[in-house]
Amino acid sequence: MSPFFLAFSIALLNAFNDKPHLGSVYTTIICDSIARYKRLAGEEVIFITGVDEHGLKIQRTANEKGIAPKSHCDEISEVFNNNWKDWNISFDKFIRTSSKNHEFVVNEFYERVKASDDIYMGVQKGWYCVGCEEFKDNPENSSTYKCPIHQKNLEWKNEENLFFRLSKYQKEIEKIINEPSFIEPIERKNEIINFVSRGLKDFSISRTNVSWGIPVPGYDNHTFYVWFDALLGYVSAISSDATEHSLEKSIYGGWPADVHFIGKDILRFHAVYWPAMLISANMKVPKKVFGHGFLTREGQKMGKSLGNVLDPDLLLTKYGNDPVRWYLIKDISLGNDGDFQDKRFVDIINNDLANTIGNLLNRTSSMSRKWFDNKVPNNEKILSENKLENFAKIAVENYINNFDNYKLDLAANEVLSLAINTNLYLNDNQPWLLIKEKDNLPLVKQIIYDVLESTRIIGLLLLPLLPELSTKINEQLGSIYREEIPWKKQLIWGLLVSNSSLPKPTPIINKLEYEH
Ligand SMILES: [Zn+2]
Repeated sequence: MSPFFLAFSIALLNAFNDKPHLGSVYTTIICDSIARYKRLAGEEVIFITGVDEHGLKIQRTANEKGIAPKSHCDEISEVFNNNWKDWNISFDKFIRTSSKNHEFVVNEFYERVKASDDIYMGVQKGWYCVGCEEFKDNPENSSTYKCPIHQKNLEWKNEENLFFRLSKYQKEIEKIINEPSFIEPIERKNEIINFVSRGLKDFSISRTNVSWGIPVPGYDNHTFYVWFDALLGYVSAISSDATEHSLEKSIYGGWPADVHFIGKDILRFHAVYWPAMLISANMKVPKKVFGHGFLTREGQKMGKSLGNVLDPDLLLTKYGNDPVRWYLIKDISLGNDGDFQDKRFVDIINNDLANTIGNLLNRTSSMSRKWFDNKVPNNEKILSENKLENFAKIAVENYINNFDNYKLDLAANEVLSLAINTNLYLNDNQPWLLIKEKDNLPLVKQIIYDVLESTRIIGLLLLPLLPELSTKINEQLGSIYREEIPWKKQLIWGLLVSNSSLPKPTPIINKLEYEH
């Protein structure tokens, strides 16, 4: 079977979000870059995004709006779908958990879990946060029964629910979470190991007071617990076009996922509950679960009450796609928390993209056009040891190694280092002085060729990270990227064609102004 890669970002709808917030934009951009990289590397990719639509929270929000939950979800999923297109997200499928196919998959999956004798009827008592759609362990000495995340009152629940025998899988889950590459980063892994070591408790998978959900067959008034339903969106998405035997089609259609990228707050569902459910249903577990951090703004948590929520749409309209992508990918080490700072954003975009990369291309292309008849000079091959060629080779190697290990910030920094070194090379050699002596002509040709060639490689390396900027760089160099030739093969030094035409340069990115 050909190599297969499944990347996911499924946004969890909630009462506060009627469109993607910066956190979902971040997750989705990361998945998009990885999906683009894997496609360029020749792997078969299914990049899935979508919305998880059921549950009490959504039911209540729709009620407040005075519309049916289905209409509410139709509206919102449309917004998400269009929003991802605006962000140039290269998703292959968009899954909605209110779709008929998803319901088939949930039912088929439930039958498998039942056949493993992992479902029983019990009584669920406890404090519930509707925002999290999760029971909370509340400390006995606390008088305020509030969710620490949502700061909203918890609700007491006491009802008959169907339970899943999570406790039966204690040993298997311990084994999985201790595997070296299953949970990343390491801090998150340790949290989960701690949680599991306290002993896994069975959890309820049905609700009797939630009508907006998938009905549990054979139990009147019971719908599936939103998480039991939502996690299966990862599976049903694969067979979203199927009309029958959907679960089998998903299993043979690419499951298991190579990686789930998720916010650290929902890691427990993905790294503990989900694998146990899958084992129970006789299915493979995902190969990796990556819990990324949260985004703050100017060092503060974003929240409605603080009035400091950063609207990603405003960023997109004001600055465009690539600047936001560059900041989120390059400035945040995947797995750690990140901070969005206006001034830092403007400085990084101006320094990295406008000054370092944009200027390099612009001035070299201008010199080349001026001295060599609007063309790339001949590659004279007169240097026995080509410094820039060595830099580029190392940068490409490190970049690939980092990307393969989902270290996107380090991959981005490799591209930037190559651009910095190329600028230094140009400044050290000063071709604008050398050109004054006729004898230096071959050397000048060599220097300019090398710098343009390095810029070509920079542009190619940017393709999965900043697709729009990469395309502009390529156009400026005479559109030499060939889609039919494997991308990795085009990263080899020396492929820029001597004496090919160079179009008139235009700035590939505008400098940003910082507004106080
Ligand atoms: Zn909560």
